[in-house]
Amino acid sequence: MENIEQHVKIEKQKARELRKSRWWQNKIATQCQCYYCAKSLSRDLVTMDHVVPLSQGGVSSRGNIVPSCKECNNIKKNRTASEWLWDSISDSSLVPIEESHTSHQLADVRE
Ligand SMILES: [Zn+2]
Repeated sequence: MENIEQHVKIEKQKARELRKSRWWQNKIATQCQCYYCAKSLSRDLVTMDHVVPLSQGGVSSRGNIVPSCKECNNIKKNRTASEWLWDSISDSSLVPIEESHTSHQLADVRE
């Protein structure tokens, strides 16, 4: 496994390139909204955030980079990835909870 500091350095450079790319410019022009709190952002307030932090082995790929407001970006930076993940699961409507409903219903209809 390569040195994590080296990895972060390389991926940060890639992120800088991506920030200038048409893909990113287009993304923040059409979908100027924080990925985490869904707040609408003016273009100069958008920051680039890695869903999987570089320090956790994340990469600067299109699939791992999202627009984020400064607040969310800072909160995330100050936490470990697992804590953040837990928070976003516990208060996010993006996570389907159908399965637990289903199992309750099954429990109710048993003889
Ligand atoms: Zn936000």
